[in-house]
Amino acid sequence: MDCLINAIKAFLLKKRIERIERKCGCVCFCPECKEPLNDQADCTDTDFVRYHCNECETDSKWTFDAAPVPLLISSNNKLSGMRENQQKGYNSIG
Ligand SMILES: [Zn+2]
Repeated sequence: MDCLINAIKAFLLKKRIERIERKCGCVCFCPECKEPLNDQADCTDTDFVRYHCNECETDSKWTFDAAPVPLLISSNNKLSGMRENQQKGYNSIG
């Protein structure tokens, strides 16, 4: 039964990724939990595109302008403690 559920989940994820690719032209995955970010609620496009992952609360920052594919600039996560490091100036980019 688990096998069937996993197959359905994989199918739905594949469909979701295809939908994002059609709409956005690319898919950004959460660096922590690998969830697709493009169709989640919070996305602000200022100097960088910033996503907030609804699954694991990770904030990530991307650039869509530097390369043919989006590049992950930075991310932080409450669980991994990187948010604290970033507040201390650990992340120098941006
Ligand atoms: Zn996540």
